[in-house]
Amino acid sequence: MNLRNLHKENQPNLFTEDNKKIIFPTNYTEILERVSSVDANAYGKTRNFLWGKVSYLSPYISRGVISLPFIKEEILKNYNLKTAEKWVSELAWREFFQRIWQAKGDAIHTDLRNTQFPIKHKNIPTAILEANTNIHAIDEGIKNLIDTGYMHNHMRMYTAMLTTNIGQTHWYKPAQWMYYHLLDHDAASNHLSWQWVAGAFSSKKYIANQENINKYTGSNQANTFLDRSYEELSALEVPNILSNNITWNEVTTLPNSDELKINDQEPIFLYNTYQLDPLWHKQEVGCRILLTKFK
Ligand SMILES: Cc1cc2nc3c(=O)[nH]c(=O)nc-3n(C[C@H](O)[C@H](O)[C@H](O)COP(=O)(O)OP(=O)(O)OC[C@H]3O[C@@H](n4cnc5c(N)ncnc54)[C@H](O)[C@@H]3O)c2cc1C
Repeated sequence: MNLRNLHKENQPNLFTEDNKKIIFPTNYTEILERVSSVDANAYGKTRNFLWGKVSYLSPYISRGVISLPFIKEEILKNYNLKTAEKWVSELAWREFFQRIWQAKGDAIHTDLRNTQFPIKHKNIPTAILEANTNIHAIDEGIKNLIDTGYMHNHMRMYTAMLTTNIGQTHWYKPAQWMYYHLLDHDAASNHLSWQWVAGAFSSKKYIANQENINKYTGSNQANTFLDRSYEELSALEVPNILSNNITWNEVTTLPNSDELKINDQEPIFLYNTYQLDPLWHKQEVGCRILLTKFK
């Protein structure tokens, strides 16, 4: 099974000519074309499958290049609300997570509703970092994430449940690791989703067995440690392959900002990695500064 081929067959315009990466164009016209090409009907029916007609809009939404109300209105030009219901409800999930962040602030970095239990450590299983868990679809998904900066929602759930619930790892460090690699990294959607999977922001842990993974990823692996009933999985000891763990502390080296020259006669427009709207004060001349150190 090759994830890239699955994506490629269904979303041919996402690949470079040499077949390498999922493309996330930075040209505004191309981004708008991606919005107008959303197939809300197929989305509702196929979004859970790895090959499903998802939009690949998350980097633009998360970086503040396009807004949720704008996208919603664009889709409703082509579809009625009933057909677009699933699409709009997923946008609402994002908005919900943003509101929780606004209300709870830095508390989203900690277990919000329940203390995650049981946990054996607060590191990351080495097998997750090395994409070597022996669950082939997930290993391929992790490699793809590191290669492209993108991971399908269901694959994020599989990776998170394998780490937190099967591997009994606290969710926070692995969430930071995934956040580091995602082009659409967003503290609220990311941390609250990890907590949701681990049962710290939900009433029940999310677990998927091999049969479920095979169905939605197109793999056909058998006899793995996940090839069990849900009852057996919820009582499973941590598999050996997930036991080894290490501390993870990746840092991003930022360019030196000493050379910054500011003309104090002009207005200053401050951007951060959550606010890169190209239309913001577009007609005005000024000094545009990107703040990169942002928690
Ligand atoms: C463990 C885990 C970590 C995640 N981390 C992030 C993250 O850092 N940043 C991020 O933007 N999303 C995150 N998500 C949510 C979701 O996986 C991505 O938004 C989605 O996969 C992006 O791909 P897409 O644009 O093709 O989505 P589509 O399915 O096409 O959805 C369209 C838009 O709706 C929103 N959306 C869709 N599903 C969700 C969801 N479950 N939760 C919140 N918003 C959603 C996104 O803005 C997305 O771009 C995470 C989910 C999980 C389970």
